[in-house]
Amino acid sequence: MSHTISLGHRLDRSEIYGPGLRAVFWTQGCNLACKGCWNTQYWSKKGGDIIQVSTLLEELDSIDGIEGITLLGGEPLQQSEASLELIKGCKEKGLTVFLYTGYDPSEFDHTMQRCFDLSDIAVTGRFVQELRDTTLRWRGSQNQQVHFISNAYDESVLQEQTEVECHILPNGEVRMVGYAEKGILSIIEGVQP
Ligand code: SF4
Repeated sequence: MSHTISLGHRLDRSEIYGPGLRAVFWTQGCNLACKGCWNTQYWSKKGGDIIQVSTLLEELDSIDGIEGITLLGGEPLQQSEASLELIKGCKEKGLTVFLYTGYDPSEFDHTMQRCFDLSDIAVTGRFVQELRDTTLRWRGSQNQQVHFISNAYDESVLQEQTEVECHILPNGEVRMVGYAEKGILSIIEGVQP
C-alpha cells in the first residue's frame, strides 16, 4: 500500500535545487520554526495537495530529461515514511535524490536515517538567521551541512554560482525560486517586501 504525501508546491524541472535538471517537491508541514524561514507557507500541515507516492512516481516517468529529484519543504522528514517510499522509488528508476532537512543527523529516528542513507546528497540542519550566507550554494546559513552520501556527486558541484529561476505556473502566476536577496525576489514578483 502506497503512502500519501502532502505537497505544498512542485516543479517538474529546475536547475537550482541540486545538480543538473531535477523535479522538485516541497512537502507541506514543518514545526521546526526556524527564525527567518523563507518557506513559512509550508509550516502548516494543512493546505497541501495530498497525493499517493505511487502516483507521484508514475508522473515522474513522463518528465523527460531529469537526472533526479529534490525533496525539501516544509520538512520532508516529518513525513518520513512517505519520503522514504518516494526516495526508494526514485532510486529504482535510476534518479538521484537530493534531500533537504532541517534536522541534524543526531536527531534522526530509524526511518529518517534510511531516507538520508538512500539519498545521494543531503543538506541538514536548521536555518539560522544570524548565520545567513547568500554565497553558499544550496544552503541558507553557514551551520547547514552538505553530505555527499553516494558516489554520484562530489564537492566540485558546490563551485558553481547560486542561481535564481523564474517559473510561469499554469494559472499564470509568476514564481521566483532560488537564493537571491529577498528584496529582489519581491520586486520581480511585484510583491511588497
Ligand atoms: S526546517 Fe526549513 S521549512 Fe522548517 S522552519 Fe526551518 S527553514 Fe523553515
